[in-house]
Amino acid sequence: MTKFRWKLTALFMLLIGLSVLAAGLLMVNTYQKNHQAALRDHMIRELHVLNAAAPWPVMEDQAEQSEYLQRQAKRFKEIAGMRVTYIRLDGRVMGDSDHDPATMNNHIDREEVKEALAANTGSSIRHSDTLNQNMIYVATSVIEGKGTQARGIIRLAMSLSDVERSLSNMWIALIFGLLLLFALAALVSYRVALSVTRPLERMTSAAKRMANMDYAIRVPEGGRDEVGDLARTLNAMAGSLQERLDEIRENGTRLQSVLDNMTSGVVMIAHDGRITIYNRQAEKLLGSSTRERVGRSFAEIRHHFELVGLIREGLDNRMPIRDELTVYYPEERLLEMSIVPMEMSGDEESGLLLVLQDVSAIRRLEQMRSEFVANVSHELKTPVAAVKGFAETLLSGAMDEPETARSFLTIIHDESERLNRLIGDILELSKIESRRSPLQFSPVELPVFLGRMGEILSAEAAKKKITLDIQADEELFLEADEDRLGQILINLMQNGINYTPEGGKVKVRAELIIQEIGEEEIVRITVSDTGIGIPRKDIPRIFERFYRVDKARSRSSGGTGLGLSIVKHLIELHHGTIRVESTIGVGSQFILELPLLQP
Ligand code: ADP
Repeated sequence: MTKFRWKLTALFMLLIGLSVLAAGLLMVNTYQKNHQAALRDHMIRELHVLNAAAPWPVMEDQAEQSEYLQRQAKRFKEIAGMRVTYIRLDGRVMGDSDHDPATMNNHIDREEVKEALAANTGSSIRHSDTLNQNMIYVATSVIEGKGTQARGIIRLAMSLSDVERSLSNMWIALIFGLLLLFALAALVSYRVALSVTRPLERMTSAAKRMANMDYAIRVPEGGRDEVGDLARTLNAMAGSLQERLDEIRENGTRLQSVLDNMTSGVVMIAHDGRITIYNRQAEKLLGSSTRERVGRSFAEIRHHFELVGLIREGLDNRMPIRDELTVYYPEERLLEMSIVPMEMSGDEESGLLLVLQDVSAIRRLEQMRSEFVANVSHELKTPVAAVKGFAETLLSGAMDEPETARSFLTIIHDESERLNRLIGDILELSKIESRRSPLQFSPVELPVFLGRMGEILSAEAAKKKITLDIQADEELFLEADEDRLGQILINLMQNGINYTPEGGKVKVRAELIIQEIGEEEIVRITVSDTGIGIPRKDIPRIFERFYRVDKARSRSSGGTGLGLSIVKHLIELHHGTIRVESTIGVGSQFILELPLLQP
């Protein structure tokens, strides 16, 4: 751009220089012409004066006449300082102030003489070889009275060196002036060029920054001329590019957050095997971070040999692949994987998309469900088989013995009772699990409520001579579903009675606790017994459905193995927790903690 500025400056200066030069030449020329004309007029007047003062003598003797004219010429030269020459009409020099007329050529062919003969006066400027100077010659013919013939010609000559000196002085002044003017012009041109090129320079640098994706730059818009228009256009362009870029960035972040919040692992692989997308869930399912993976080849995924093989197959065959895959890193998981070749418009060799879904939990659930069905059928089969067996025995004759019949019928009654309980518990459990009946929360006054529970179970406890000891903080209220809370406590207290030998004790305590963190108010209800206890290894499993530490014992006490899993579910619905502490032979303690107020 500076190049352009210099070019512009040079152009301005050339124009200014040429015009100044032309003006100078014209001036010098005019001056010279005027000066010469003035000099010539002056000399003509001198000639007239000379002629009047010393007219051409009328003498017969040529030599005498010449002598006279010679004298005259010398005298005049002394007075006026100009060379004087007297010339006869035939061109012979009769007198000359500077030379001897005898040595001089005939002057008839001199320009000024010719002109004087033709039109009275004549002038000429030429170089004199004798004096080696430029000379001006002015000649006039001498006429005595009107209509008479001229007697001769008087010529004045003067060196032009004075004029030329003053002219050269003038030239020097002119050149100096010109140089000064030129310098001034250069300065002005530079400034003018700058004012033209500076906006252009600004725009160029702005355009360069835009090329580097910096669209925040704006240039001063200036006036309503073409340059201003260009600046405005440039600014508008930067503005719209900025908007477009923002849009693209926003889309990018939107896409990124969609990818990051997806529950599926998404991995995109370009046709050359480089990983281009590796979202957060993929990090979780396959291990290693996005930063480690993106830009690298999929073949570098160690730990997942099988997966790498499937990706390679997908890239080679360009066919969708669906499979289930067990990975052991970063932890054991069952992944449902689908590989889809991608077709992006315009790109022949687009890569493929790998979508991963963690199905471990679903599979585990499915497995649990089928195990549950098997367990249920098994649990149902036992009482049904008993009922069927005893009924058959009765039918095949035992009916006739009243004693046997009575005991068989008692067994049938007990077994069908168990069956009924079992079916009831299963239905209850499935009802809770499917959350078909939402909880009805209301304030429950614990001292009163727990007292009622004790009354319900007092007969059962008395049968085994077990003391029920129930204590609750005074006026302690708890927000809960009263029926469900009853179910929880009956189950826990009943277990306490069932798994405690005769003469033991079952204690229930309810107290308010303010948790240090968050100052949350919770109610802790503890159900403890002095029973047989639970082996440490079984503690984590007793809340599982149908899990019993001692099958025979549970059966004899009428348990279904579902009680604690129902308890656990109901407590979770109350946003509470339950844990167990137990020592074999000493007793067990079930500690449940429920929020005083439901969130
Ligand atoms: P069950 O109907 O067999 O009692 P639960 O789900 O209520 O089934 O309990 C699961 C198992 O936990 C029981 O079979 C028993 O072995 C053990 N258990 C529960 N409560 C107690 C307790 N208070 N003392 C000892 N063992 C217990």
